[in-house]
Amino acid sequence: MNSFLAETLAGRTAIALPYCQANGTHVQVLDEGVIRFEPREPDARGLDLVVSCGVHGNETAPVELVDRLISALLCGTLRPRARVLFVIGNIEALRRGVRFVAEDMNRQFCRVPDVGDGPEARRAAMLEMQLVRFFAQAGGEPVPRIHYDLHTAIHGSLIEKFAIHPQPAPGKEFDRAEIARLGLAGVSAVLLQSAAAPTFSLFSSRYCQASAFTVELGRAMPFGQNQGVDLEALEDYLGALIEGERPSPASSDVVAYRVSREIIKQSPAFRLLIDDQADNFTPLPHGTPIAEDGETRWVVDEHDARIVFPNPDVAVGQRAGLIVVPTTPG
Ligand SMILES: [Zn+2]
Repeated sequence: MNSFLAETLAGRTAIALPYCQANGTHVQVLDEGVIRFEPREPDARGLDLVVSCGVHGNETAPVELVDRLISALLCGTLRPRARVLFVIGNIEALRRGVRFVAEDMNRQFCRVPDVGDGPEARRAAMLEMQLVRFFAQAGGEPVPRIHYDLHTAIHGSLIEKFAIHPQPAPGKEFDRAEIARLGLAGVSAVLLQSAAAPTFSLFSSRYCQASAFTVELGRAMPFGQNQGVDLEALEDYLGALIEGERPSPASSDVVAYRVSREIIKQSPAFRLLIDDQADNFTPLPHGTPIAEDGETRWVVDEHDARIVFPNPDVAVGQRAGLIVVPTTPG
């Protein structure tokens, strides 16, 4: 039998009726690239977990990881003791091996659908509906809700695996326990967002009350060329969550960073004064000129600053980089 991913890429997954595996697990394909697993016994539903991947179609390592987990669940070597929803995000872009077809899909969430929406915006609206439905159908006592949106980065990174924690809803705080737990998945830094970017993880955080993270796992490579991306710790960790474990680290090795400043491109004259190929989390010594835009100059005045996502080729008004500094979540 072909894997779920192979079937999806071949256009052969569509909404299907739920069925029950011999071990009692309920399986249902809810949409193209969207599959849900549920333990039969309500007592065994201790966690509602969403794992998404492929929101950017050129980031294939996490898609292969998700496909392995789905295969293990379908053949019964993994037996869920949590409700799990897997989402393969931008299927057409995955087929073409490109980041996106019309627009960056991870900027199309948390918005009102419009008749002029392109393929990414329409798919994002559909996925939002699937998440709302998944969390609403839990029934029984409330259980923890987690969403990991798995990515790989365009840039290299001095910190190979890091996560972005969306800005909490007003009155809420960053989730310290879940930040610490990510250390078990091989993640060593978490960037706390200062502004609400319209990402998939912001949606599940804001509208589904999930503890949500965008997880960056190393370099983006084509299918079959991800040997350099070591996802073993993450795979073990997700397998444990699916089997109902809630592993807790003895101490947290995860370093939290906050955004000190956003570098916004204000005009076509914008110039980045550091290497735009600089790895994420490259240290920026005090006094370093970072960028200039007409009269405006950005110079490092923070202690222990680092650069994240440097990119001068964005549209005017968009973010050309972030200056981040270590912090304590809370
Ligand atoms: Zn991505």
